[in-house]
Amino acid sequence: MTKKTVSDIDVQGKKAFVRVDFNVPLSSKDPNANITVTDDTRIRAALPTLNYLLDHGAALILASHLGRPKTAEDRQFSMAPVAKKLEEVLGRPVRYVPEVMSEAVKAAAAALQPGDVLLLENTRFDPREKKNDPQLGADFASLADVYVDDAFGSAHRPDASVDGAAYAMRAKGGPAVAGFLMGQEISALGIAVDNPPRPYVAIMGGAKISDKIKLIENLLDKADKILIGGGMANTFLKAQGHNLGRSLVEEEALPEAKRLLEMSADRLILPVDVVVAAEVSNDAPSEVEMVWAISPDKMALDIGPATVERFNAELQGAQLVVWNGPMGVFETPQFANGTNQLAQMLAGMVDHGAKVIIGGGDSAAAVRKAGLTDKMTHVSTGGGASLELLEGRQLPGVVALDDK
Ligand code: ADP
Ligand code: MG
Repeated sequence: MTKKTVSDIDVQGKKAFVRVDFNVPLSSKDPNANITVTDDTRIRAALPTLNYLLDHGAALILASHLGRPKTAEDRQFSMAPVAKKLEEVLGRPVRYVPEVMSEAVKAAAAALQPGDVLLLENTRFDPREKKNDPQLGADFASLADVYVDDAFGSAHRPDASVDGAAYAMRAKGGPAVAGFLMGQEISALGIAVDNPPRPYVAIMGGAKISDKIKLIENLLDKADKILIGGGMANTFLKAQGHNLGRSLVEEEALPEAKRLLEMSADRLILPVDVVVAAEVSNDAPSEVEMVWAISPDKMALDIGPATVERFNAELQGAQLVVWNGPMGVFETPQFANGTNQLAQMLAGMVDHGAKVIIGGGDSAAAVRKAGLTDKMTHVSTGGGASLELLEGRQLPGVVALDDK
């Protein structure tokens, strides 16, 4: 799964169509308000690719989706505030055409000189984007000489700006390559999929098993052990015959949980103790209970200290750890200890040469909250995309790019 990136091609004097991820949070949902970008992390994250292209003599045509507009009338999802923020962050003028594809867009792209930047309107304003309409893809490709995808978070969606545009560029003989962000995601997550160093331990948590059965199956296939915590563990524990009180349990997923337990023999490690409370609140009194003695009126909301110890022991010597899903209801500090202690343990392992990869939106948020993002080998920016890749699926946005 090695793909060409912008540094593998010649971009001097070329126009680059760059699919970026500028799906940023906005200050208001009111189309008549003065809407601003409230967090520019994703715009800044694109800078290495954008500056590389500009420094090497390219002109840029940038396209992204933003939010979930139903039609182009949903002006609250316009890219106008993004254009303003991008200008500030990039430190150079940004031309913005409030249309996805039109004669005005084609004229603006045709007029670009090296170093110029053009931002198109929210790709989802055009209903053909989500349908991967070949004409829209071809029109995107016709604006430029090279196609660059730096939007890993959209790589699992076969949209026109992700999929069709890349193939249309190849059809006319131009390169379709990854930006640096995309390149990093592909190589970091690729380690877990293609050729994992061993021992390889996967850690799974989060709310539900049903979302992640495919992922658990694929990890059972690839990893040496899987440690399970969070709400997901409850369903496994119930399947083993424990009483889970009022905990979140997916009754419908019990047969699947039993099947996975039978399949995995001793490679699936479950909690031995949990932190329980009567409600999800910092003020609710909490206790540690063994999994075979959970009070009928309580909920398991975090893994307990003996489980943290057990997981620690299982992680000793691991060369690769992939973690998806918090160990408890980490949004409430009282139930964030298991998640935080695990994050600390993993940060320590990175110091000793292990590779630690975090996938999933909430997991990335938990690691960020613990202040340990920079300590990990890789924290994926693509929630759904990272999970689909770890499931062993081929992502359309990755497949579409030129192999190295
Ligand atoms: P990710 O986004 O990293 O893939 P998920 O979306 O699967 O993770 O799960 C995150 C959610 O799981 C969090 O909102 C967290 O509160 C919830 N969760 C974790 N443990 C429990 C639990 N014991 N009971 C209920 N919810 C839980
Ligand atoms: Mg989530």
